[in-house]
Amino acid sequence: MKLDLKHFKAKLEEEQAKLEGELKTVGRINPSNPNDWQAVPSDMEADAADRLEVAESIDQFEENTAILKELEIQLNDVKHALKKIDDGTYGLCEEDKKPIPANRLEANPGARTCIDHARHTKIDIS
Ligand SMILES: [Zn+2]
Repeated sequence: MKLDLKHFKAKLEEEQAKLEGELKTVGRINPSNPNDWQAVPSDMEADAADRLEVAESIDQFEENTAILKELEIQLNDVKHALKKIDDGTYGLCEEDKKPIPANRLEANPGARTCIDHARHTKIDIS
């Protein structure tokens, strides 16, 4: 079965725009590397005289760092998938090169592997 690449490309581009929008709320692009995002404290204007506020802004910064990492991974998957569309390898599991079911791609257009291999990966890291 042939995948509707136009459809998935549109989905991926939409996802990329959404992720970049979310990244901008917790970070900014590294000025020396446009592919790298850095977390920023959400309230740069916090009154430094107020220790509690400083502590809160540090917590916020750590939280933003965690969110940013997660978003960056998703964004990389989306960019990677867009590259695979250009290469003609989109929709193939990266482990066994078999086609990934369209319904899985529909739910997660940035998926790199079929469900079986995604599961194996998860077991390996836990
Ligand atoms: Zn597979």
